[in-house]
Amino acid sequence: MNQLSDRLNRLTPSATLAMSQKSSELKAQGVDVINMSVGEPDFNTPEAIKEAAKKAIDENYSKYSPVAGYPALRNAIASKLKNENDLKYTANQITVANGAKQSVCNTVMCLVNEGDEVIIPAPYWVSYPQMVKLADGTPITIYAGIDQDFKITPAQLEAAITPKTKALILCSPSNPTGSVYSKNELEDLAKVIAKHPDMFVIADEIYEHINYIGKHESIAQFKEIKDRVIIINGVSKAYAMTGWRIGFAAGPEWIIKGINKLQGQYTSGPSSVSQKAAEAAYTGSQQCVEDMRKAFERRRDLIVKLAKEIPGLEVNVPQGAFYLFPKCDSFYGKSYGDRKINNSNDLAMFLLEVGHVATVGGDSFGAPDCFRMSYATSDENIEEAMKRIKRALSLLK
Ligand code: PMP
Ligand code: GLU
Repeated sequence: MNQLSDRLNRLTPSATLAMSQKSSELKAQGVDVINMSVGEPDFNTPEAIKEAAKKAIDENYSKYSPVAGYPALRNAIASKLKNENDLKYTANQITVANGAKQSVCNTVMCLVNEGDEVIIPAPYWVSYPQMVKLADGTPITIYAGIDQDFKITPAQLEAAITPKTKALILCSPSNPTGSVYSKNELEDLAKVIAKHPDMFVIADEIYEHINYIGKHESIAQFKEIKDRVIIINGVSKAYAMTGWRIGFAAGPEWIIKGINKLQGQYTSGPSSVSQKAAEAAYTGSQQCVEDMRKAFERRRDLIVKLAKEIPGLEVNVPQGAFYLFPKCDSFYGKSYGDRKINNSNDLAMFLLEVGHVATVGGDSFGAPDCFRMSYATSDENIEEAMKRIKRALSLLK
């Protein structure tokens, strides 16, 4: 008997988390699986940040924090936005949540009414359409294939906008493609958005620091739309802090107040100790960020080189994040024994069960002709995984 709400029944479980769990289950059974499914840095949180958290415990940061997060953390984020992005926000225009995931969802919940349309460029991060559905909105996807480096054009955006459009969710650097919009490309999108004064932009910049082309560019820098942009970011990826669960939204005060109202009834402020750790991350030396970025860049070069050597895969060169998103539809219709590959999920399952490498099929990213590998793992793991994938794919006839 299914007594779950219709809202919940409409929801699809997170494919990234599901694949990661499946990989852990196989590992627990003794199978030597390389996990390239979930996207999280393999590094430990830098020592200085851990020390700040230990100190926070000793200093009894053990009570409820303000719903929006401690002022000291919000001030540190405001300084980060000023110094790194040349964007002015006051602490009242910033609100902290349990990870950037909650910050995106909070924003969607605060803006979207039943029937509102939210434009989501595909390939997209798996959770965006689900969050829109949770808010009773309608996700509208625009597809940008590998031939356009997985980036939408201003004409595509313009064509998708209707009187019901409430927002665009833009992720750059992108999960799952690693594509990064240049300043010019963002400016061209901003010009389209400027013509539609009722629409907002949820700019997910969680991969800001994992960028291989230099300076991060935010769509919030364009004055004509800045008061309709909500920046989402956090410490998970840049500082290897996925488990600490701290993300933030920065935007117009009325939206931030709305998020605080929601959060006040729903989750309250996020973990006090994690907030103190995040404050240390933003105010301390940024050398750790650059060291990890360099390691990701080396791994990006390695995985691109190895993937290009695999017959049947078409590969872009990601300019940010830590994912490779090869086109793999040349394998559809092929078989290994009585196992037939009909789609990206079949292929991901084949790579897991036969190749012992966990990846994620492209279907749940709105890109059924691709699959995703996270290269946030050691060089040795990348080399071994690509060997296994090459061998497994060569079995398909
Ligand atoms: N946005 C994107 C594009 C992501 O890949 C992730 C990672 N899951 C998040 C948001 C959420 O990050 P957090 O761990 O801070 O919730
Ligand atoms: N961002 C990561 C991923 O896409 C974490 C998993 C998730 O939150 O979906 O794999």
